[in-house]
Amino acid sequence: MVKLRAKCVLAGDPTVGKSALAHVFRSESAHFPKNYTLTTGVEVFVNPVPIPDTSDSVELFLFDSSGKEIFYDMVESQWELAGAVCLVYDITNETSFNSCTKWLERARAQAPSNQLVGVLVGNKTDLACRRTVEYTQAQEWAASQGLEYCETSAKEMENCDAPFQSLARAFHRMYQEKSEHIQSIV
Ligand code: GDP
Ligand code: MG
Repeated sequence: MVKLRAKCVLAGDPTVGKSALAHVFRSESAHFPKNYTLTTGVEVFVNPVPIPDTSDSVELFLFDSSGKEIFYDMVESQWELAGAVCLVYDITNETSFNSCTKWLERARAQAPSNQLVGVLVGNKTDLACRRTVEYTQAQEWAASQGLEYCETSAKEMENCDAPFQSLARAFHRMYQEKSEHIQSIV
């Protein structure tokens, strides 16, 4: 039984629904609610995510920033590294999708030695009638970046645990690959 911890940064343009997702994530772990406000504008939500078919779990520390200084705050904070990034855009807002390239670059620049797992989230599926970014377009870009893709509606609380389960599984996989590598060299 392995218990891992991963720091996950929520990134994306303003108003795409990052905070809404973070709050849904928290409410799903009502038996284990923890919520810290670190510095002004940075909230941390903690949620243990069990890994299917194992007795392992990954405790996700989800960092949500209201300001634009999110990556600056990451550097300033005492947290060593972000192991995961949750990129969020709004499916009715193409600009917010295009910005994901920039957000991912910044997250990668802060993550030491390429040890970063990520997921792309297309939020606001309840507004599908106003969709401007096609599912396959987003999925193809995500795949080209090594990210999984999910669509959610934080408003309707639809599919909101999928991105966090995906991140926890990816982080767990990375941990297993690393420990296999270490075993192979000793
Ligand atoms: P943030 O700036 O990325 O943290 O975005 P917020 O979580 O503050 O959300 C911005 C606005 O979008 C708010 O008015 C939310 O109520 C709304 N919103 C968030 N998620 C959804 C969603 O899934 N569907 C709809 N229709 N609105 C949403
Ligand atoms: Mg916010």
